[in-house]
Amino acid sequence: MGDWITFPDGRRGRLSWAQDTERAAYWQTLLAAVHGDPQARPQCDCRVGGRPLALSVRALGRQGRGPLRFCLARMPGEGALHDASCPFHENDPRRSGRSGYEDGVIRELPDGRLRITLEQGLAVRERATTPSVPRDGEPGRQGGGQPRQASMRLLGLLHLLWEEGGLTTWSRSDVRRRAWWPAVRAALEQAATGLVAGRATLADHLATIGYRDPDGPALLAETVQACGEAQRVLLLGVVDRLERYRPAPAGEDGAPPPPERLRLVFDGVRAYGLFVCGTEALAARLERSFPWAWRVLQQPRRERAVRVVALVLARVRQVERDGQTVRLAWADGIALMEVGPSLIPVASSHELAVLRALQEEERYFRKPLRYDAGRDVVHPDFELLDTGAPRGTPMEVFGRDDEAYAARREEKARHYTSVYGVEGWWFWDATRDAIWPPFPPAVAQKGEPS
Ligand SMILES: [Zn+2]
Repeated sequence: MGDWITFPDGRRGRLSWAQDTERAAYWQTLLAAVHGDPQARPQCDCRVGGRPLALSVRALGRQGRGPLRFCLARMPGEGALHDASCPFHENDPRRSGRSGYEDGVIRELPDGRLRITLEQGLAVRERATTPSVPRDGEPGRQGGGQPRQASMRLLGLLHLLWEEGGLTTWSRSDVRRRAWWPAVRAALEQAATGLVAGRATLADHLATIGYRDPDGPALLAETVQACGEAQRVLLLGVVDRLERYRPAPAGEDGAPPPPERLRLVFDGVRAYGLFVCGTEALAARLERSFPWAWRVLQQPRRERAVRVVALVLARVRQVERDGQTVRLAWADGIALMEVGPSLIPVASSHELAVLRALQEEERYFRKPLRYDAGRDVVHPDFELLDTGAPRGTPMEVFGRDDEAYAARREEKARHYTSVYGVEGWWFWDATRDAIWPPFPPAVAQKGEPS
């Protein structure tokens, strides 16, 4: 199963062309030709009962902005029918932290978009005083009658954007694409177009910040302008620096020094004229809730084992300063996510080692995410998609050997064995073996996305 799409007139194209500088224009003409015609739906290569699965063509972008662009989406309710290796396959929510939400937090609309309930509102008049980061030591939420969450926090939203944007799957051609920020931005914008919160489409609030993105600064300016003072902006990018600082005193001598603040600097932000600040209380929460990301960001850049992606919910003000327009963002909430090569999220250094090895062996895989669920939910650390197993092959890294974890581990092993069979899953006991066992072999990689 690959990413080939068949159009009603018999023409074929690949989903990956959408992010291919040479073929993107041709891809858009293919989609434009069938947009708005329910009788002429493109299809992927999946078959259900011998019949192909139709796809829906969706117009991208915000109203009144630039030429219309199109993207493909699966038909509502059909995500689970697509093969595990098809880009339109929808992860079984039970195999990620998505299962930690109450019913209704993520709801599929009749047009295939997802309606989400956010904990912090996008409108400024909705107060945003609740911490946007997980509380410490939160229990796992799966099974056992543990409480499920009634709304989505910023980390959940960041994970949802990553997953809906296809950034949690990896094949060897992603090395090139993920290193080019405009392609990453396009994937995230496409994801945001399919997400609705309250009356807003997330795409109208999202602005990404990244290196060498010639359109990025203008898009940020547009978003900030459109959101004005009444709406919050979602800023997303890789973090260069995250630190406490003390602002210069504004008053005359003898005035008490101003309180410490948090400062977040995105990669490539210089071209954007953007300054992100928050309270020291937010800094303290981040340090507690995202200890690995925080620690890494205190290290010199070249010593960092992982990079960190941030999603910032902010009120942004535009001001003129020395003849330049600068944007001052006050963060009401921040979520952090550690990522390895090709921006694949990782939760530990053991996972990072496995990720690098999978990439070295050019495997095709997916990284299921935790969302807002506790750290102990039963979802695999990775899923191999090239083994021929219709549901993928789960991979688990056991990295702790304390007593509390032993029971969880036991539970996970029982779960995988009963669902996938003894041979149907892979694990590495990192507390016992320094080197992981060989990965389950790949079957012939015909039609793998490229
Ligand atoms: Zn499919």
